[in-house]
Formats: sequence, C-alpha cells, structure tokens
Amino acid sequence: MVLAKLGGRITGTIKQMKNATIIDEKTLNDCLDEITRALLQYDVSFHLVKEMQTTIKKIVNLEDLAAGHNKRSIIEQAIFCELCKMLDPGKPAFAPNKANSSIVMFVGLQGAGKTTTCTKYVYYHQKKGYKPALVCANTFKAGAFDQLKQNATKAKIPFYGSYTEFDPVKIAVDGVDRFKKENCDLIIVDTSGRHKQKASLFEEMRQVAEATGYSLILKSSKPDLVIFVMDSTIGQAAFEQAQAFKQSVAVGVVIITKMDGHAKGGGALSAVAATKSPIIFIGTGEHMDEFQVFDAKPFVCRLLGNGDWSGFVDKLQEVVPKDQQPELLEKLSHGNFILRIMYDQFQNILNMGPLKEVFSMLPGICAEMMPKGHEKESQAKIKRYMTMMDSMTNKELESSNPKVFNGSRIMRIARGSGRIVTEVMDMLDEYKRLATIWGKVKGLKMLEKGNMSSLSRNKNS
Ligand code: GDP
Repeated sequence: MVLAKLGGRITGTIKQMKNATIIDEKTLNDCLDEITRALLQYDVSFHLVKEMQTTIKKIVNLEDLAAGHNKRSIIEQAIFCELCKMLDPGKPAFAPNKANSSIVMFVGLQGAGKTTTCTKYVYYHQKKGYKPALVCANTFKAGAFDQLKQNATKAKIPFYGSYTEFDPVKIAVDGVDRFKKENCDLIIVDTSGRHKQKASLFEEMRQVAEATGYSLILKSSKPDLVIFVMDSTIGQAAFEQAQAFKQSVAVGVVIITKMDGHAKGGGALSAVAATKSPIIFIGTGEHMDEFQVFDAKPFVCRLLGNGDWSGFVDKLQEVVPKDQQPELLEKLSHGNFILRIMYDQFQNILNMGPLKEVFSMLPGICAEMMPKGHEKESQAKIKRYMTMMDSMTNKELESSNPKVFNGSRIMRIARGSGRIVTEVMDMLDEYKRLATIWGKVKGLKMLEKGNMSSLSRNKNS
C-alpha cells in the first residue's frame, strides 16, 4: 500500500499512546512529536506539520477535559481529523456527467505521466459506462501519438492524433469536433509538456484550452475540466509547481502519479492539497488499472490500517463481473467469511490480475500477502493455501468457526496436502485475519439492499 510504512509508524505511535497508563501532557507531546518526525521524514512540509500539531493540542486540551472523558479516543480522533484536513483542500471536485458530455484537458510537465494517466482516466470512466475518446494534442514529445495510440488500442478506446500536423491547437479542435459528432460523452485532450515550467508551455496550454472550448457547439470558452498531472517524486516542490500551473490555466483538479512505493508521496499529496486543489486520483503503477480514486478520509483510514471501504467497493464494481456481484454482496452481507469465500477470492486473484488491486484496499492483504515486486512468491503462497483447503471437508470449508480445526484435523489437512502442520496453522491464521477484516463489511448499512452503489454512498456513514 502507498505510504504503508508511514501509516504503520503513525498507527504504532497511537497504539503506544493508547497503552500508556496515564494520559498527561507528556504522553500527548511524545505522541505528537513522533508523528511529526514521521511526517517530516515522508516529506510533508514543516509548516503543515507544525500547524497540525498546534491544532491537535488546542482540540485536546487535557486540563479542560473532565475526568471520565476518554482522552485516548479524543487524541486519536483529533489526529485522524487533522490528517484528513491536511489532505483535503475543502473544495468539491468536478466530476464529468454523462448527461452533459465533457471535455477534459490534461496538463503537466513532460514525464509527469500525462499520457499514461489520460488512458487510465478514460479506462476508469469507460468501465463506469461512459463513451470516452482520446485526443493527442501533444506535438512536443517525440512518439507521444504512438504512445497514446498504443494505450488506447489496448483499452479499445477511440483516439485521434496526427503524424503530419504539428499545430496542437488544430489537432485538439479537429479531434474534439470529430468525437462530438460521434456522440462521445467524455473527450480527453492530452497536451504537450515541457521539461520545465516554461512560458511557451503555458501559452500553448492556454491556446489549446481556448480552442477546444470554442470548437464546442456549447459555446463555452474553455474545457469543462483541466486536470493537472503531477509526479509525486518531486516531494515538497509540488506546492510551487501546482501553484504555477493554477495561475496559468484554470486547473480544476489534480492527479498525482508514481505513488507506488515512493517514500516522499506524502509531501506531494499534502502540498497539492495546500494549494486548495482537489486531488481526484493517484497513479500507483505503470499499468492501466494501477489507478485509485483519491478521497482524503478513506485514504487516511487506509493509511492507518482501517481499510478503505469506498475504494474497495469502487474496485469491486470495476473488476468483479456484474453477474457475480450480487452473490458476493450476499455473502458479504452475512459477514460470515467462511473458508470457501477465501478459496473463491484466491481463485479470483489468480485468474484476474486486477483483483490484487481490490485486495490492496483491504488492510493488511496486499501489504502482507501480495507485496509489490513479490507477486510470484505471493501467488505461490496462495496456491499453497488453496492446496491445503482442497484437503478440507465441505463442513470445514463452510464453517466460520476456526475452533473446529483441532489438532487431528490440522494433521489430516497437512498430510492430505503434503504440507507441514505449521503451514496449515499459518493458513488458518491468515484466514482469521481476513475474516476479521471482512467481518467489518457486515456493519455497513446497505448490504440488505444488495446494491453496490448504495454501498458506495453509505460506506462512510
Ligand atoms: P508524459 O510525458 O507526462 O506524458 O508522461 P508518460 O505518460 O509518458 O509517463 C512517463 C513515465 O512515467 C512512463 O515510463 C510511465 O510508464 C511512467 N508512469 C506514469 N504514471 C506512473 C505511475 O503511477 N507509477 C509509475 N511507477 N510509473 C508511472
């Protein structure tokens, strides 16, 4: 998971504070100092961290808290809220609407990940039922059109570009006009970048923005949305870069790329939010499906190991075939995570690569079971677990009570699958851990309705 180590450190510090015998000024200060150190190490700006510390101390006024108040919870809640605030610009983000077709322009420096992100964005919306199209108005980068064409072809998305026309404005206008005529409801225009924030780049962006707007029969003078794509690896420089782009073109929202495993990602996220720009997605890899909706509250929940149910549901809708969704929901709604469900989901992971993204939304799963870069070992482990489950009886697979696995059963399963007893016990421990996580779904209101979209809406309630 993105920033997993930072999350682990903050969670560990909170746990230590909660285990303290007394909660006094010193306990609070020690806890906040450790969180400050962790955030600074992950490149969050000193100014933001200091502000967070001051606010928490104001909220948690230990002297004023009467005996009986749960100080531990108050501190924990304040830390959670302030982390959310740090990542939330407090402005709603524009979302395209199928009813009014939208033109979305992507801007950013060369190498930030614009072309890759355009395709991810389109692919994401295509799965949500949009009829999207891609226009390559990036005439600065050699091979940009080929790159976009290759990505678009893979995802079966209509595209437009030219090998002979070098005027990005003309390409953008022609492409947008063409896809308007074809009734596409989401038209994405990829624009040129430069290696640095140069005046020529901003001038070109302005021209493309104006031209795509004028080309619309809608008579608007600008695209419906300008998305600024920024590389997270630049750390604290993110604030200045986001400001510069905002001043030059009407940036509506931001997508931050290369959040996969980069220690400094926290700096970029908080710096961009500080420019009051809503971050809508983060890129977590080079592949099309390595793309996650960004929303401060679920992100912090996930960071602190509490699971990101919104992201989970979103991904579930994307990757689980529609006809299988009601059945999975039905199982989840009962909250009984029996071993057979674990077996089926392991099967899904092995059959459908993207499911690892679904599981990465659940605390502990991807980080521990499927660490990035160790997919082969993780797959081997999953297969081993499945072999052991193959040696179980139906009754065992359908029981939600791990206590049924007494010594003789464990020995029988180990013998039957050719594994050793400790491996079977490891597998059962894994099952217990997952069952606890999945059990939380039971608490979500919506499930009786058997409707994923209602789950999405209610997940944070
Ligand atoms: P552009 O010049 O802004 O259009 O950037 P590209 O889309 O060509 O991306 C530059 C490089 O970054 C390519 O090698 C991409 O595969 C890579 N890239 C883009 N997004 C991500 C991401 O989220 N994670 C990782 N690891 N690489 C990415």
